[in-house]
Amino acid sequence: MAAPALTRLTIAEALDGLATGAFSAVELAEAHLAALAAARPLNAMITETADTARAMAAASDARRAAGDARRLDGIPIAIKDLFCTEGVRTTAGSQILADYVPPYQSTVTAKLFDAGAVMLGKANLDEFAMGSSNETSFTGPVVNPWSPGPFGAWTRRLVPGGSSGGSAAVVAARAAMGATGTDTGGSIRQPAGLCGIVGLKPTYGRCSRWGIVAFASSLDQAGPMARTVRDTALMLEAMAGFDPKDSTSVDRPVPEYAAGLTGDVRGLRVGIPKEYRVDGMPAEIEAVWARGVAWLRDQGAEPLEVSLPHTRYALPAYYIVAPAEASSNLARYDGVRFGLRVADDGLQALYEATRGAGFGAEVRRRIMIGTYVLSAGYYDAYYLQAQKVRKRIAWDFEAAFERCDVLLAPTAPSTAFAIGDKSDDPIAMYLNDVFTVPASLAGLPGISVPAALAEDGLPLGLQLIGRPFDEPTVLNAGAALETAAEFSWAPPALAVS
Ligand code: GLN
Repeated sequence: MAAPALTRLTIAEALDGLATGAFSAVELAEAHLAALAAARPLNAMITETADTARAMAAASDARRAAGDARRLDGIPIAIKDLFCTEGVRTTAGSQILADYVPPYQSTVTAKLFDAGAVMLGKANLDEFAMGSSNETSFTGPVVNPWSPGPFGAWTRRLVPGGSSGGSAAVVAARAAMGATGTDTGGSIRQPAGLCGIVGLKPTYGRCSRWGIVAFASSLDQAGPMARTVRDTALMLEAMAGFDPKDSTSVDRPVPEYAAGLTGDVRGLRVGIPKEYRVDGMPAEIEAVWARGVAWLRDQGAEPLEVSLPHTRYALPAYYIVAPAEASSNLARYDGVRFGLRVADDGLQALYEATRGAGFGAEVRRRIMIGTYVLSAGYYDAYYLQAQKVRKRIAWDFEAAFERCDVLLAPTAPSTAFAIGDKSDDPIAMYLNDVFTVPASLAGLPGISVPAALAEDGLPLGLQLIGRPFDEPTVLNAGAALETAAEFSWAPPALAVS
């Protein structure tokens, strides 16, 4: 098969082709390494690991020849540069970890590699996963492959969303078949929406956080990004599962998500949360949402309106809880144990010089907000209050799920915006998460499925949110949306054809 054709396959199709011997894992890896090289103007990768990919692909072919093929054997993927990879630089998008080479493997990457996946490299992200546009990485912004104009000479450079922007961009650009992401308040679903791919945030506790650079520990969750719902199901099977090394990972069997995927939504009660109809929502997003409702109804689902009354408090609560946890997690970057050290006179001066040089503006802003809301005198007014709001938001979802099985909403309030447009306005940036943050606060699974192209020619996603550990229903309803949407567009100006 010609190399460009190999990069157009889904993971499911590639597994079939590898099984029948239509092509080898080495050929599949080479095709993607070439696509990755062509996609370099996107700045989507922090580290490319071509030699590792070739060695892993050769080992995969050997396993297959020996009759020992695993569930993702030979599938080339990108790893968000927030997952520690043994012997491979892991930066979290930050100057402070610019030269950090972990001596160990995160549980999720270990599971993916045990399943036979081939690592193409480490994908760019917002610094410490803080952001919605992938503009805060120490290596510079990532460009959305849907940006208008000739590839690499775009007339407007658009953001891919964030924080898993590099992961979303390489998958959309057909330079990786799938990628890992992490989602704390929307960082899998929002970039998936803005890049026209599928992204799944699992239930909190479904995938181990061990070896993932921590942002906000009570919210962080790893998940798959790919071009079809079935492909995310295949990846999730390999990524999920109990890990004794993460005390918040949950000991429940991992379903065969892909095998269970029927797309049958007959009788499924689909809740439409009325509070998600926020002021100023663009009419075309409202229209795509209505189309999503109709698509599910046409396939036998039963839409009904539900209420999540505390929705408008979700963003303010998130932007207290997440920075509070971040300020505590990031205290470890002190110039002594990890990464960068800027020597100065005395210990206190060393801390200050190292952290001042190592952290970017957004990370510093979060640390300041976090330490402020946790400080004596403000703790009760801000942090404790935010935790109470968080509980109420979780209760809202519990009440809604007494009446429905899954919720349908838009993924993001706009299509991809231009690089630089919101960089000076943190509040405008934080508003990107208005539809994704509530499910994160409640620990619920959510998926973004590409639904349509907007008038500006850019992708729009629809989001489904489910009960805890009900990824099977989320995936099934996602498959039903995917079938109806027939979203087969690729970024028009792709370098690889
Ligand atoms: N955009 C949100 C933030 O900046 C969410 C990021 C994430 O999910 N990692 O915190």
